[in-house]
Amino acid sequence: MHILIIHAHNEPQSFNAAMKDLAVEELREQGHSVEVSDLYAMSWNPIASAADFGSRVNSEYLTYALEQRHNCSQRTLAPDIQAELDKLLKADMVIFNFPIYWFSMPAIMKGWIDRVLVSGVCYGGKRFYDQGGLAGKKAMLAITVGGQPHMLVSGGVHGELNDMLRPILRGTLAYTGMTVLPTFVAYHVPYISQEARVTQLAMYRQHLRSLDTLQALSFVSLNEFDEKLHPISAPDS
Ligand SMILES: Cc1cc2nc3c(=O)[nH]c(=O)nc-3n(C[C@H](O)[C@H](O)[C@H](O)COP(=O)(O)OP(=O)(O)OC[C@H]3O[C@@H](n4cnc5c(N)ncnc54)[C@H](O)[C@@H]3O)c2cc1C
Repeated sequence: MHILIIHAHNEPQSFNAAMKDLAVEELREQGHSVEVSDLYAMSWNPIASAADFGSRVNSEYLTYALEQRHNCSQRTLAPDIQAELDKLLKADMVIFNFPIYWFSMPAIMKGWIDRVLVSGVCYGGKRFYDQGGLAGKKAMLAITVGGQPHMLVSGGVHGELNDMLRPILRGTLAYTGMTVLPTFVAYHVPYISQEARVTQLAMYRQHLRSLDTLQALSFVSLNEFDEKLHPISAPDS
């Protein structure tokens, strides 16, 4: 496979960066080709704005998704967006490697999603979920968190991990058609011993060695919905 790692940590010596480095090494050892977009190192611009477009359908009023579609077809997207989009389209799998910030991803990575997952290519019209523009690609999150495992389960103080990650797992990755593999989580990273952190890295290596056998998360198929996206049969209660 060709694997793209989108990495967002502001400290190159962080544990999170060590996870990224381990993934590059392990996946190459497995025979995959790996490319990394290190967003802080690239000084990635996360701001979706009119400056992203070299031409405009409507120069008086910015409708971002409409201009994405137009500029993508004209090859007039800003060069930084086009370069990342080309990497994304080339990849068979994308790993998003980041520390959890406020139950979500750092803003710099959210800005990568906003600007690079362009309408008309990655989604648009009724091209979403299993009919999304990125269908056929795999995606996976590799995250570090301050919290502990018992805090991120049903009934735990923060609720279930996958509920916390829903806007990313469902609203972004599954929505654009990607097959979503289970998230690797390194818990409580700043507060555990060095030894425990080394163990977490070994667990991540194991996770990467089982990519072929990991059970993908399950999401809806558009076949379950009618023309107006009402469910064809009521879900079981
Ligand atoms: C704005 C913000 C919002 C946050 N929101 C949340 C939230 O909603 N939920 C939550 O749970 N947490 C939250 N956090 C905490 C954050 O997710 C964690 O602090 C972060 O994920 C820890 O990972 P790190 O890589 O930054 O750790 P680091 O602090 O970089 O690393 C921890 C230790 O590991 C050491 N280390 C580095 N490399 C290695 C290696 N190879 N082997 C062993 N040790 C190594 C480092 O030297 C350091 O001592 C938030 C933090 C911020 C700043």
